[in-house]
Amino acid sequence: MAATPLEVRNIKKRFGDTEVLKGLSLEAQKGDVITLIGASGSGKSTFLRCMNLLEQPDEGEIILHGDPIRFKQTRHGREPADWKQVVQMRAKLSMVFQNFNLWAHMTLLENIIEAPVHVLGIPKKEAIEQANALLERVGLTARANAYPVQMSGGQQQRGAIARALAMNPEVMLFDEPTSALDPELVGDVLKVMRDLANEGRTMVVVTHEMSFARDVSSQVIYLHQGLVEEAGKPDEVLGNPQSSRLKQFLTPHY
Ligand code: ADP
Ligand code: MG
Repeated sequence: MAATPLEVRNIKKRFGDTEVLKGLSLEAQKGDVITLIGASGSGKSTFLRCMNLLEQPDEGEIILHGDPIRFKQTRHGREPADWKQVVQMRAKLSMVFQNFNLWAHMTLLENIIEAPVHVLGIPKKEAIEQANALLERVGLTARANAYPVQMSGGQQQRGAIARALAMNPEVMLFDEPTSALDPELVGDVLKVMRDLANEGRTMVVVTHEMSFARDVSSQVIYLHQGLVEEAGKPDEVLGNPQSSRLKQFLTPHY
């Protein structure tokens, strides 16, 4: 059997005196879509950022395809032992952020080919061909030469997804990819994400879009104050929640 694309075990993280992650684990098999839900401040972003080492977890293991990230203790705490390994792992584990994070000084096409050319060493001509195919997929062929500031939020986010896909990642991480969008732009981005899920992409998605979570997740994890409060299949967790906190979280407040 092929190794598990992403395994995260017992992640703990503190900022100052506050322990914000108190031992979180997940396991994404190929094609899994794991959604993380929870109130603001419950630790969803920090958990995601620990997975690709944008934050350094104080404890716990991160294992990509059976290959554990190596850490060393320093006087500042724990750090990756080999940053080259981190760069390699980030190429396999690409992240899409709430605020799009396209590079402002580059056109959309330049954004998309940057890492394939400079990190993967793909010839520029080939990278451009691949980028054009991705732009078509996300419906942005006409915007290839636009700068981010000239694009709507929805276009920027679809562009950011195309940029993430250009690395052909084994796992995609999404941190509330539609939360910063005007409501009328959310649908196009969710459509792209649903297509990715349906084609068998392995994804970990922080989201407040419950219909997305219900329709495409293989597993839903509800976090409360840095711990898993409830986890399981979407029809169980969302359709028949056990925890009273989760029940309240899922009740619409108008
Ligand atoms: P969520 O994404 O679920 O809203 P976060 O992971 O962003 O939650 O935050 C979890 C907790 O950690 C919050 O209390 C937040 O204030 C705190 N936190 C997050 N990042 C930092 C940081 N860099 N420094 C200090 N505290 C942080
Ligand atoms: Mg967050």
